[in-house]
Amino acid sequence: MRDYQDFPPLEIVGAHGARLVLSDGREVLDAISSWWCKSLGHGHAGVRARIEQQLACFEHVIAANTTNAHLVDLCERLLRMANGAPPSDWGPHAVAGGPSGSSGHFGKVFLADNGSTAVEVALKMALQAQAQRGQVNRTGFAALSGGYHGETVGALSVGDLGLYADPYRSLMFPVTKLGPIPYRSGPDDPLWQDAGREWIAIEATLAPIAGTLAAIVYEPVLQAAGGMRLYSPDLLRRLRRFADRHDIYLIADEIAAGMGRLGTMLASPPDALPDFAVLSKGLTAGFLPLSAVLTTNDIYVQFDGDWSSHRAFLHSNTHTGNALAVAAGLGALDAYVSEGIMEHVATQGPRLCAALGKVARRLSTLTRPRGVGMVAAVDLCAPGGAPLDPAARTGMRVFRAALERGALLRPLGDTLYLFPPLNTPAQDLDAMVGILADSVTAVLGGDAVYTDIAQT
Ligand code: PMP
Repeated sequence: MRDYQDFPPLEIVGAHGARLVLSDGREVLDAISSWWCKSLGHGHAGVRARIEQQLACFEHVIAANTTNAHLVDLCERLLRMANGAPPSDWGPHAVAGGPSGSSGHFGKVFLADNGSTAVEVALKMALQAQAQRGQVNRTGFAALSGGYHGETVGALSVGDLGLYADPYRSLMFPVTKLGPIPYRSGPDDPLWQDAGREWIAIEATLAPIAGTLAAIVYEPVLQAAGGMRLYSPDLLRRLRRFADRHDIYLIADEIAAGMGRLGTMLASPPDALPDFAVLSKGLTAGFLPLSAVLTTNDIYVQFDGDWSSHRAFLHSNTHTGNALAVAAGLGALDAYVSEGIMEHVATQGPRLCAALGKVARRLSTLTRPRGVGMVAAVDLCAPGGAPLDPAARTGMRVFRAALERGALLRPLGDTLYLFPPLNTPAQDLDAMVGILADSVTAVLGGDAVYTDIAQT
C-alpha cells in the first residue's frame, strides 16, 4: 500500500478507444485493455447504444422464474459461436430462435456475474454432475501448474500462484498440479503443436488419481496472470483424450484467452473442446460484469429431475443474467462480426508479435519474446539473459517510465506484455511497442532501438 504514497493512482476523466484521458489532460494508451477485458476499447458506440436501449426498458429483473428475449438470444448466439458456427449465425443478423446450440458440442449456458464466480460454478457443476451420474468418489480436481483462475477460495485452490493464494492456504482445498509445462513462443515455435515430451510426466501424475478426479482445470493455451506464458494446444488434445478415457470432465477457463484474444472466439482447439467453457471479460467488451459457463446437454441432463430428487444446480447470484450486462454482451457479439474484429486480429496480431520480437532481439535486457493473436509478451532480464532480482522491481520502474511516455503497460513482475483492445489501430499498436522499448532502455540502458521497427 505504501507504493501509493509516491505513486498515486491516475485520475481518469474519460476513455475512448485505446485511450484513457487523465485529469491533467494527458492521454495514455491502455495497452492492457483494463485488465484484459476492454476487447473493443473504451466507449464503443454500438455496445453503449445497446445498453441505453435496454436501460429504457428495464435494468435488472430477477433471472429465476423470469426470462426475456435478449437473455435467450445471447445464450443461443454464444452457443453457436462456441460450437464453431459461421459468424452469420451469431452476429448481428443471427435469426432469433435460429439454429440453436443443441446440434453442436455445447448445449446450455449458465450466467453468473464475474470470472471467479463462474469458475466456482464450473467446479461445483462438475462435482455435482459426477455425483449425480453415480461417480460419487470423483471429488478431486487437477489443474495445470502456473495457472490462475480468480480470487475466490475455490478459484485460488485450482490456481497455482502463491502470490495471490499464500495467505489463504488454510481455507483452500488440495488440487493436484500438473507440470512442468515447457512454454512455447507462439505458432512459429517448432514444438507449437507437439506436447509429447511434457505429456509423459503429466500423464504419470494423472494416471494413479484418474478414478478420483471430477475435472481437470486449465487456461487454454495462454496462462495470463502466471506471466503471459503460452503452451502447446496439443496438450489440450492429450488432456481431452485422457479425460474421455477416464470419465473426467475438462474445465477450460477462457476468461482471458477467449472472446478472440488468441485469434479465435474460443482459445480451446475445436478438436479439444472442454465440458465447461468459462467466459467473462470480453463477453461484454468489458462494459459490465457478466460471465457464462457453457456446458453440454449430457451434463445438463444430470441436473434434470423432479423437485423431490434435489438434482437441480442451486447457485443463485443476485445479478445472474443482469439485463444491462446481457445487452452489452449482445452489442459485443454484433461488433465482433460487423466490424471484422477477428480479421483485424488476424492481420495486426502477428504484426504486433513480430514488432515486439524485433525489439527483444535488439535489446539484451529483454528475453523470451512470445505471442499469439493479439497478445505479445517479453521478460526483462540482466544483459546476457540472467533473471533480474525481483526486489529491484524493474518491471514497476518500466511501468512508471511507460506512463511518462503515454502508455499504461502494468507488467506482471518482470514480464512486460501488450494486451491491447482487439480493434486497436496499427499506429496505436506501433506506439505501444515503441513506448515499451523506450521505457526499457530508459530504465536499463542500451541504445534506443525502436526507430522504424514496427514498420520494417
Ligand atoms: N480466470 C482468468 C484466466 C483470469 O484472467 C481472471 C481475471 N484476471 C479470472 C479468472 C477472474 O475473473 P474476475 O476478475 O472477473 O473474477
